[in-house]
Amino acid sequence: MQNLSAAHRAAQIEQLSSQLYDLLVIGGGITGAGIALDAATRGLKVALVEMQDFAAGTSSRSTKLIHGGLRYLKQLEVGLVMETGREREVLHRNAPHLVVPEKMLLPLVKNGTYGPLATSFGLWVYDVLAGVKDDEQRVMLSREAALAQEPLLREDILEGAGLYIEYRTDDARLTIEVMKTATAAGAVCLNYAQAVGFTYNEKGKVAATQVKDGLTGQVFAIQARKTVNATGPWVDTVRQQDTTAPNTNKHLRLTKGVHLVLPRHRLPVRQAIYFDVPDGRMIFAIPRQGVTYLGTTDTNYDGPIDDPLTTAEDVAYLLRSANHMFPSLVLTPADVLSSWAGLRPLIHEAGKAPSELSRKDEIFISAGGLISIAGGKLTGYRKMAQRVVDLVARKLSKRYGLTISESRTEQLVLSGGDFESPAHVRAYAQQLAQTLAPLGLPQSYAEYLTFNFGTQAPQVVAQLTAGLAQGLQPETAALHGELAYCFQQEGVVTLADFFVRRTGRLYFDRPAMSAQLEGVAYQLAALRGGVSAWQLLHDFKKEYEQAAKFQAAEAKVMAA
Ligand SMILES: Cc1cc2nc3c(=O)[nH]c(=O)nc-3n(C[C@H](O)[C@H](O)[C@H](O)COP(=O)(O)OP(=O)(O)OC[C@H]3O[C@@H](n4cnc5c(N)ncnc54)[C@H](O)[C@@H]3O)c2cc1C
Repeated sequence: MQNLSAAHRAAQIEQLSSQLYDLLVIGGGITGAGIALDAATRGLKVALVEMQDFAAGTSSRSTKLIHGGLRYLKQLEVGLVMETGREREVLHRNAPHLVVPEKMLLPLVKNGTYGPLATSFGLWVYDVLAGVKDDEQRVMLSREAALAQEPLLREDILEGAGLYIEYRTDDARLTIEVMKTATAAGAVCLNYAQAVGFTYNEKGKVAATQVKDGLTGQVFAIQARKTVNATGPWVDTVRQQDTTAPNTNKHLRLTKGVHLVLPRHRLPVRQAIYFDVPDGRMIFAIPRQGVTYLGTTDTNYDGPIDDPLTTAEDVAYLLRSANHMFPSLVLTPADVLSSWAGLRPLIHEAGKAPSELSRKDEIFISAGGLISIAGGKLTGYRKMAQRVVDLVARKLSKRYGLTISESRTEQLVLSGGDFESPAHVRAYAQQLAQTLAPLGLPQSYAEYLTFNFGTQAPQVVAQLTAGLAQGLQPETAALHGELAYCFQQEGVVTLADFFVRRTGRLYFDRPAMSAQLEGVAYQLAALRGGVSAWQLLHDFKKEYEQAAKFQAAEAKVMAA
């Protein structure tokens, strides 16, 4: 069976450049991965190229919620609330370790976004539209009960709270698991491979895509009957590489969203909170492992797409907002451990503010037949993929007489997700803890492995046991075991691939990462061959330092 390992890169490139594909997907975020999976499981011959690492664009920089979109109810986008609400259930069933229900507290404040009656009604409508199970339906809390639930809330403006269910995820891991499942179904997916141009047949239709290997610089062509541009914030850039007429004036409008990571003890909320901030927006504070992350901002963006940065203003805005709701904490930039910034690939609508823009997806088709998909949400990726592949299937049937089956992903378990039932995930973690305890690894590590790798955790344990046998300390063996697994199965090429998108450690367990960084660099260099540990560390330095550099942000910005 094929897998994503960088060890097979040369063979993958040979395969990609020598065969004709039914579908080439450009872009390896959640949208591209979803399309590759839907198409491969319907029997199409699929290739996918990603210019960075899988999920390195917006799909590792979100709020990491699979949500029914309460805020869309306010914008009366009822259809979107219904679709995303139902999708949560499907994703929870198919990847129960990665899409996990979590209580969200919505404080009601004087002159806030939602009043008590409107909130009670809104959350009820949300429950109904999103098809929420009885035991997960919203509960309204009095002011006293809200304070008992979360003593950090600002008392003088508090009127009560709503408690409802959202689902948390790890966006990058979800993308990787979708990609792995697509690969297992026959898709050939390659990271560090950039689409740089198109060639056309005699009818002026896209016939092949020129692709540049980011590791060697080699350029090769992939021939495909249909090509989908699923490049998120880069959709317009790739559309401009297509020299045929675009067939629509519509274009993207990018807005930037920043999240800050703080130590749990400095923002010790007891559960996830979705709260009002003074400018009329709402933001999340979400505890995860030993930290709490806070976000997001929503500002127009016209800087470099490859490298959106967190500015001192972003930091100041989010900390001011948190200090407004949790005044006893007095958070300052020195409390911030790290941050990430992502770009929302939204469809431009004249005269609308960033947070008013619809999150709906749209498909554009150029005269040359390039199909571009833009907009959308992590939450709705599966349905969005289904719509795109339905379109591709119609075109392939008409042109080549192919018979293509209906989408199968609604009932398709993602790799690592084959638990007896969603309720079994915790029991699985308990069992794993019993295996790991004699090896010197704590229960929290068993939970981390379960929620990160699901039923693939034993493969990591096999690798880490081999490390222990070589005399490594348990924490070192664990990290080395994860790296060996992620290299062999998940296409890890750089340290950032591993520490940011496969394990989340750069943000969520920085001390463990820093302690093991050098050893992991040596191991990755040995696994890859032809690259030194020094080079890997050098390449990672920018990402590593950038995540924390705003700690020096001027305190005066806070006062602004
Ligand atoms: C701050 C923020 C918070 C969010 N929170 C949530 C949330 O909680 N829940 C939710 O459901 N949604 C959320 N979203 C939305 C969601 O994250 C995005 O809709 C989704 O990740 C977009 O995925 P994508 O695959 O379309 O784009 P991307 O993930 O950006 O993927 C596009 C990929 O294409 C690649 N690419 C570009 N050009 C080329 C080329 N020429 N050749 C090859 N590859 C190329 C890029 O490297 C990139 O990896 C959030 C978004 C933001 C910004």
